[in-house]
Amino acid sequence: MSTLITNIGELVTNAPRPAGFAALSDAALVIDDGRVAWTGRAAEAPAADERVDAAGRAVLPGFVDSHAHLVFAGERGAEFAARMAGVPYSAGGIRGTVAATRAAGDAELGGNLRALAAEMLAQGITTFECKSGYGLTVTDEARSLALAAQVTPEVTYLGAHVVPPEFESDPAGYVDLVCGPMLDACAPHARWVDVFCERGAFDADQARAILTAGRAAGLQPRVHANQLGPGPGVQVAVEAGAASADHCTYLSDSDVDALAASGTVATLLPGVEFSTRQPYPEARRLLEAGVSVAIATDCNPGSCFTTSMPFCIALAVRDMRMTTREAVWAATAGGAGALRRDDVGYLGTGARADLVLLNAPSHAYLAYRPGVPLIAAVWRGGRLVAGSAA
Ligand SMILES: [Zn+2]
Repeated sequence: MSTLITNIGELVTNAPRPAGFAALSDAALVIDDGRVAWTGRAAEAPAADERVDAAGRAVLPGFVDSHAHLVFAGERGAEFAARMAGVPYSAGGIRGTVAATRAAGDAELGGNLRALAAEMLAQGITTFECKSGYGLTVTDEARSLALAAQVTPEVTYLGAHVVPPEFESDPAGYVDLVCGPMLDACAPHARWVDVFCERGAFDADQARAILTAGRAAGLQPRVHANQLGPGPGVQVAVEAGAASADHCTYLSDSDVDALAASGTVATLLPGVEFSTRQPYPEARRLLEAGVSVAIATDCNPGSCFTTSMPFCIALAVRDMRMTTREAVWAATAGGAGALRRDDVGYLGTGARADLVLLNAPSHAYLAYRPGVPLIAAVWRGGRLVAGSAA
């Protein structure tokens, strides 16, 4: 069955190559068999089995969230409150979530995960990545990934999130576990391997070893890089041919040059800087150097507990000085690039019919009306999965 969505005030299509924001006004779009079959001027639209009137509102590609940690138990609201009262953030807070996650049953972990996935979908995220990293034992990492694989194909093995307490005096032993038996148990469930390359987590040599082992097991690399201070993460990511270097808050000129000369996307996570009261990444510096930039939520219980891509877009515009067009591109096509996906993040013929109808006439309202729920309806694979087009 085909569906015509017509009377679209602004249809954000994005141009895949060369990359950039693109939009049509007075537009229409036809969905057929889960794919975009036609886009163009409403007056020229072909007939379809079903007709949806967008009433002058905007339609965007579904958001692509390339960085999220959704498999966990417990919460850290008190830690957030303490941080807002002046206690600094450190990577060690992850350990509290690790203890709660290990203690939780599969039903509790899976229930939390599905609730967060539904929350994302209702806010227009039609593709999302999901990491492990709160189990940190062979069994708990493998079951985290098996659960993640039930809700998304973009599953990331992050055994190298932090060294767990039982390996405190033997970090090398933990890296051996991550590269050996844990990887063997996890690789069948995952597409990606990730490492938190940061002071207090894993250094450059450890990160290289973990990414190399992951690649040998058929996983593709991505890296948590340069979040809490300057460091080797970006260089390690570029050397490894990572799809994405994520955070990029503290960059040297050579980091920026390396990203610009590579196929590695810089994924910025402004919700983290908001929630930890850290300086924001320098998005303009990256964009002006020609780096491909994505925006993602980094939804996790410690440093950023939001599933709202519109909120992240608003931060990117207000606090990282991205234009509304750049921010929306980064949250759609940029995220697709960070996941090396060519079927999502744009709305051209052949794209997967993942789209968002806003209760607003243009994409700019996502930043112009911060905090207001503007997502009227969400289609994934051509099927209306949240909200209503009425
Ligand atoms: Zn993260």
